[in-house]
Amino acid sequence: MDIEGSIRVMPEALSNKIAAGEVVQRPASAVKELLENAVDAGAGSVTLILKRAGTELIQIVDDGCGMSREDAAACFRRHATSKLFVAEDLNCISTLGFRGEALASIAAVAQVELRTKRAVDGAGLCIRNEGGRIVSSEPCATSDGTSLAVRNLFYNVPARRNFLKTPATELRHIIETFQALALSRPDIAFTLIHDDAEMHRLPAETGEPAEALRPRIGALFGDQYPDMLVPVREQTSYLTVHGFVGMPELHKKHRSEQFLFVNGRIVKSRSLGHAIQSAYEGLVPKGTWPFFCVFLSMDPSRVDVNVHPAKAEVRFDDDRGVYGFLHAVVQKGLGAMLLTPLVDAPSADTTEPWVLKSPAREFTVPGTTHSASASEFSSDASSAGYYRKDEQRDAGRQSEELYRGVASLSIPDAASGNEDMLLWQLHDRYILTQIQSGLMIIDQHAAHERILYERALGHLRQGQGLSQQLLFARTVDFSPADFELLKELLPDLSALGFDIELLSGRTAVVRGVPSEIHSGDKEVLLEDLLAQYRRDNEQAGAERQERLARSLARRGAIRSGAVLVPAEMRSVIDQLFACDKPYVCPRGRATVVRIPIDELQKRFGH
Ligand code: ADP
Ligand code: MG
Repeated sequence: MDIEGSIRVMPEALSNKIAAGEVVQRPASAVKELLENAVDAGAGSVTLILKRAGTELIQIVDDGCGMSREDAAACFRRHATSKLFVAEDLNCISTLGFRGEALASIAAVAQVELRTKRAVDGAGLCIRNEGGRIVSSEPCATSDGTSLAVRNLFYNVPARRNFLKTPATELRHIIETFQALALSRPDIAFTLIHDDAEMHRLPAETGEPAEALRPRIGALFGDQYPDMLVPVREQTSYLTVHGFVGMPELHKKHRSEQFLFVNGRIVKSRSLGHAIQSAYEGLVPKGTWPFFCVFLSMDPSRVDVNVHPAKAEVRFDDDRGVYGFLHAVVQKGLGAMLLTPLVDAPSADTTEPWVLKSPAREFTVPGTTHSASASEFSSDASSAGYYRKDEQRDAGRQSEELYRGVASLSIPDAASGNEDMLLWQLHDRYILTQIQSGLMIIDQHAAHERILYERALGHLRQGQGLSQQLLFARTVDFSPADFELLKELLPDLSALGFDIELLSGRTAVVRGVPSEIHSGDKEVLLEDLLAQYRRDNEQAGAERQERLARSLARRGAIRSGAVLVPAEMRSVIDQLFACDKPYVCPRGRATVVRIPIDELQKRFGH
């Protein structure tokens, strides 16, 4: 039997049709490829024209470089690309396209008309391709650049056509794709027309890319956006982040206003989305999604953009490191925004400007043992306190101290005369202060709980808490159950700063308690704590040390109702924003509420 004879090379039109399944799943994927081609062609202006959510017509008109006659004839062939020549090139892809698959795949499943002309050519060329076959090719009059009209997508693949969702859904995907491209290149003018109605007309933004992004976001999403953006920007030798995240008020019930780019490409990444989202913990309601438009750039050899046919997924050589970095950068940006003073920064003659110090968070990237991850971020206590230089261990060649230098956030000096305007205590429970975006209200008890919790965890995990000696050592007779518990927790309790000596029977002497404790009755703190721990213990879940830290924080925190002097209020705010998760107390309640100035204006009917 002639076995060899049974293997045939597929006709190209057929293999293109199969490949189209990967590249072109829906109208939006064709739109993405064609917009990317226009961008790659150096266009200054790109127009997208749609009919019936792209199912009837997708047309892209650009003023880019155009194609020569030869290129125009070749561009529908699979792996025909002008962009990638050798395998090593895969590591330094600077164009959006590189596979030479898109036009071949789209043409295989649609009726396509290409009109193109280079500036150097006298006449243009019009090529029609139906279902992957060129049906006509003739000179034509056309302006410089390229117009590609894709009609009746999937006309010859009924199964795929039937799989399309409602026009509204398909249109939504297209718009998201359009928005992503438009965000990635504010310097290019983009227009979107659907069924003869203009949906977007975005002028080219001049100026430095990072700043041009702000008006572009405004043009795309609405005039209120530019004033509600928090810049994020951080650079390490490994990774650069820039872009904007929305103020918490911009949250939506869907994720469609979340854009993440890696080396200029839009990507969908659950993990990186989570890295950003989790920085909003306590700031946006559960089940809502903040706005972001964030760009990561890194050495292309450390990121794989090739894992997905539509190039929408990425893999990094250090996923956890990137996660931690992104999370920290966004958290810092949000923190800075929440605390930026409305009035001028303290002037030079201010004797002692009140400076909030960001935590000396250790941030490490690949190859080191302690990369920040979701779980570590929530419980990592090394950062829960104060900026101490000697705590910055050398974490390896690529480690970067994220917070160095730029970390100080200043708030007007309360001692400089106008303190009663800037710090108020309301009903002995809330601390009020003015911030750039409006009014910040801090729940003193919840805030202090957060502070004590993170500090206690730090002591439990890696150190020794300081002890304050009681004036009179206290001898306590415990119940059998409490005494057992006490014995079990003794090492942890002394790590926290308790000074306890067990005597015979069920008696113990308490000589000292943790030094940071604030609550009134230090004498009975140990008994209080054991009782609280026992109650907390009934809710399963957290590990022992976390529970203990939580119980101590709850018992030891400044009470609601305690009168605070300005220095104490300042100290609470200072310490709170040095915490890893300043916005929620350990029990998940908000520590801070912000009332934006617009909200006040609205209430006053402006
Ligand atoms: P890729 O973008 O991966 O190279 P495509 O199939 O998308 O593959 O495009 C094939 C080739 O056609 C491109 O490499 C480019 O040379 C040419 N081309 C496609 N669209 C345009 C355009 N709008 N302007 C100029 N050339 C284009
Ligand atoms: Mg392409």
